[in-house]
Amino acid sequence: MPSYDYDLFVIGGGSGGVRSARVAASLGKKVAIAEEYRYGGTCVIRGCVPKKLFVYASQFHEHFEDAAGFGWTVGESAFDWKKLIAAKDNEIARLEGLYKKGLAGANAEILETRAELVDAHTIKLLRTGETVTAKTIVIATGGRPNPHAALPGHELCISSNEAFHLEELPKSILIAGGGYIAVEFANIFHGLGVETTLIYRGTEILSRFDEDLRRGLHEAMVAKGIRILCQDVMEKVTRGENGLVIETMKGETLNAGIVMLALGRDPNTRGLGLEKAGVAVNERGAVIVDDYSRTNVENIYALGDVTDRVQLTPVAIHEAMCFIETEYKNNPTKPDYDLIPTAVFSQPEIGTVGLSEEEAGKRYQELEVYRAQFRPLKATLSGRAEKMMMKLIVDAASRKVVGAHILGHDAGEMAQILGITLKAGCTKDDFDRTMALHPTAAEELVTMYAPSYRVRDGQRL
Ligand code: NDP
Repeated sequence: MPSYDYDLFVIGGGSGGVRSARVAASLGKKVAIAEEYRYGGTCVIRGCVPKKLFVYASQFHEHFEDAAGFGWTVGESAFDWKKLIAAKDNEIARLEGLYKKGLAGANAEILETRAELVDAHTIKLLRTGETVTAKTIVIATGGRPNPHAALPGHELCISSNEAFHLEELPKSILIAGGGYIAVEFANIFHGLGVETTLIYRGTEILSRFDEDLRRGLHEAMVAKGIRILCQDVMEKVTRGENGLVIETMKGETLNAGIVMLALGRDPNTRGLGLEKAGVAVNERGAVIVDDYSRTNVENIYALGDVTDRVQLTPVAIHEAMCFIETEYKNNPTKPDYDLIPTAVFSQPEIGTVGLSEEEAGKRYQELEVYRAQFRPLKATLSGRAEKMMMKLIVDAASRKVVGAHILGHDAGEMAQILGITLKAGCTKDDFDRTMALHPTAAEELVTMYAPSYRVRDGQRL
């Protein structure tokens, strides 16, 4: 038996990497983990967590407006971007500390260096130039924003990475893309008082979501004052006298203080030495893995965004836990990707689990669609025009709820709980016999007794 310096070496200190290193170490394995930037990865350092803090910050102006309807007179308010950034940075530093503490507590060795593969068992630590060996290697290097190198002037644009560290807020911003990041940041910047335009190549934002929610969110964002240009793309970005000048395919010339690209994220595999270790990647540069997150090289696994399966933090963590079961508990376990609840932290928020009406229409012969649109109670006094929307997609034959979609306040919180019901295989009858909790918005989910319409062979009846 060859002997190695470590039982496990993990490259990448994000959600998936840290979880695999910590749990393997807690099982008594000799583990090292290397991170070239900051522990916590995209989610903690420049993704989900700081983004959600920004979302909260951007909602206060509406809270202040709403307060008037409830008898409050709110004094003059002002927003200080630098204070928000400092508070956010403090919290992120605290979380990073917790991640390291967890690793250290489990006796994993924490390395602050870039690490690259030399062969299937050997890793080079770039900070010292030293090489170490490991029996098993996990690649969990995540992803990076697509730089859209084909766009003339792309080097003048920022990505979400920089959005978390802007020196000051611009007066105006143009955001390219129609996915999670573009939509969330458009709402954040608008809420903080920045004149915001979104430019998206498709016919409607958020291409992978239920059509009703996409349209509903689009309308709500426009009503707030966000400009959305669909079926258009940027052709060129140049520096003008007053900021950046953007020419679009449809012939518009736009001006913006900042242009932010949110056009998807690419797997972080460049220069990692994968070819030296013989690890295969696909045409997007993502590490190819089997159902157990194992690469084509027996002792090397890959998890999280670097594999380009489902780019979500809880998925990377789940993949890490499956890797632990497979490799260290003699219990080969495949990650389960069915019915992943997800939220877009837009304003209003989207929370969803299961199939959209369009997807379900392709899979099931007949659907019952239950759909409610209503003004939430709080809006009756605040006067806010925003409506909530809830939709249940039911397979008519089995009565199983196969999709649940919410647009409105706390939609993400509700989608998490709905995820349990769909995972448990609940039918519409289970929803019907559940007592409503009054007065809540969520009670609508158990009080939609008659289908709003049916879909047969993909066609609305
Ligand atoms: P998404 O995949 O969500 O969206 C990418 C967008 O860019 C799509 O609208 C896509 O259009 C568009 N696009 C891609 N390439 C081009 C191009 N060459 N020209 C014009 N438009 C283009 O990626 P994001 O960057 O928004 O986010 C990355 C991932 O991070 C997400 O997929 C998600 O998994 C995760 N994430 C999750 C969040 C959450 O859970 N709340 C929040 C933020 C990110 P089209 O739709 O036509 O393909």
